[in-house]
Amino acid sequence: MRTQIVAGNWKMNCNLDETQKLVDALKVKDFSKSDVEVVIAPPYTNLHLAHLSLKDTPIKISAQNINENESGAFTGEISPAMLKSVGVSYVIIGHSERRAIYAETDELLAKKTSTAIKHGFKIMFCIGEVLEERKANKHFDVVKEQLDKGLFHLSAEELKQVVIAYEPVWAIGTGETASPEQAQDIHAYIRKVLAEKYSQDLADEISILYGGSVKPNNAKEIFAKKDVDGGLIGGASLDADSFAQIVASF
Ligand code: PEP
Repeated sequence: MRTQIVAGNWKMNCNLDETQKLVDALKVKDFSKSDVEVVIAPPYTNLHLAHLSLKDTPIKISAQNINENESGAFTGEISPAMLKSVGVSYVIIGHSERRAIYAETDELLAKKTSTAIKHGFKIMFCIGEVLEERKANKHFDVVKEQLDKGLFHLSAEELKQVVIAYEPVWAIGTGETASPEQAQDIHAYIRKVLAEKYSQDLADEISILYGGSVKPNNAKEIFAKKDVDGGLIGGASLDADSFAQIVASF
């Protein structure tokens, strides 16, 4: 059975005090009774605090990005070893905001995935189309190309460290979600592409998350779909009650 995952992407929200409050609120939710893997991705400056506060809980810590280099003259960047040293086990790669605002290309993301694998991180690799592409019925081609260029240089063994997050850009932070059927259609397609490139067995092992305005009132319907193995949650992950309700939606 595939791992079911609910991950919270805090983006550029929460200072140190706010982080402490949010992790304290998550701590009392006692996710240990659930089979769902729970992950949070606070900003860089708060990763260590989150790790220390949550180290006796099942909640895993993710970074929102990773640099493709080992160390050196990269002013303002954070190295993979630094992430390791503060308790990070997951990294998000290829979030649409990084692709669009910081011009991260498929080629750069391929380097980041290789670096992350080398350092033993699990990867949440984000893919998804913009509205014009969806309207032009190009979403299948778009995600296939993103997988091809950003991920498919990995070996089958390496791919086991990867979780795919399908996030239609038009649904991120907009309050608009893909319908459960739309999510299922494209998740099934992603799994088919994985099976063609690697094997059906491997494709059946990879968790594929849906992201885009998942809230407590729509999570259950989306997570009920056969090829949806969880969610990458933005806005609703900033509230411990909402996030816990989403986790409980399985
Ligand atoms: C995200 O940024 O990954 C995301 C899914 O955000 P939201 O849930 O706010 O749409």
